[in-house]
Amino acid sequence: MKRPDQGRFFLMPDKRDIRALTREELRVFFSDNGMQSFRGNQVYEWLWNKGVHSFQEMTNLSKETREFLDTHFVINHIRVDQMQQSSDGTVKNAIRLHDGLIVESVFIPTSTRTTACVSSQVGCSLDCTFCATARLKKMRNLNPDEIYDQVVAIDQQSRAYKNHKLSNIVFMGMGEPLLNYKNVLKSIEMITSPEGLGMSPRRITLSTVGLPKMIMKLADDEVRFNLAVSLHSAIDEVRSTMMPINEKSNLEDLLKSLQYWYEKTNSRVTFEYVVWKGINDRQKDIDALVAYCRRVPSKVNLIEYNAIDEDGFEQADEEVIEKYRQDLERNKIVVNIRRSRGKDIDAACGQLANKTA
Ligand code: SAH
Repeated sequence: MKRPDQGRFFLMPDKRDIRALTREELRVFFSDNGMQSFRGNQVYEWLWNKGVHSFQEMTNLSKETREFLDTHFVINHIRVDQMQQSSDGTVKNAIRLHDGLIVESVFIPTSTRTTACVSSQVGCSLDCTFCATARLKKMRNLNPDEIYDQVVAIDQQSRAYKNHKLSNIVFMGMGEPLLNYKNVLKSIEMITSPEGLGMSPRRITLSTVGLPKMIMKLADDEVRFNLAVSLHSAIDEVRSTMMPINEKSNLEDLLKSLQYWYEKTNSRVTFEYVVWKGINDRQKDIDALVAYCRRVPSKVNLIEYNAIDEDGFEQADEEVIEKYRQDLERNKIVVNIRRSRGKDIDAACGQLANKTA
């Protein structure tokens, strides 16, 4: 007997996004509908490897099969709506999604590599006080294909501007990737699979505000990409004033999850850390960071602060940053000082907020 919702579905066919299906789900769809399951592999390749925009282009399927797919599914693609180029070569893309919402992704070329900085959510729910994306309400999670397509678009820019394919990906755009766990992992599966972009997971870094349960899940899932945590302070009272999430899961919980991560993956976490005047520029802030890093294999990226507006934050003096570097190095902790890219077009870390959209 038909359930009432099945009847409604019959009257008002609601087409599903075919790119939300895994290869296995596509195979099952074909066999459930009395066709050979290997057709699922063919469709998968058209969708991901060849990146077609319509079923008509799937020329190794019969006309009937193509029409059948067309009655059940849509193929959604993102659109690069606007590109802004910085004087340092960085390109910020405003990406329009199928429902009209916009996210931003950034192409960052250096002399040795090209990096795509991609978004995982529309807006963000975490309210870090220093981040522009926090000013936007979280609207929704991105689907795996919407994340994948950002990488494809930036790979094309890498080929066009630098004559070589994209070398690295960072999940440091809008949103918190670990709050969109399933879709982010699915997108990475596609990015790394031979049918997709075939990139090495070692060239992918996921940056998180630091959610202990989800970090442990990553470890249990034995992922092979790199993990970065936005630390910004190793003192609970200080971190909580900037990152409200720290009140729910404190630094000790975070540390335990990172120790577990290292045990399982053998990969050291990178701490991202901005030094602000009057907030974390005291010797005791430096000592706390050193002590924290000594408890888990890790390295530190000291990142430049990108002002977002009159928010009262100011980058600390060079001497303090230098002192951080010296003390970390003296304790055998690898430290890099990262300069901002794309500041003049609001494309740097924490500046993504659809100002132009
Ligand atoms: N939600 C994830 C990824 C997005 S933020 C996370 O928190 O890690 C990417 C990085 O930019 C994080 O390290 C974040 O702390 C940093 N960031 C945010 N606002 C910034 C700003 N105004 N200046 C410099 N870095 C900033």
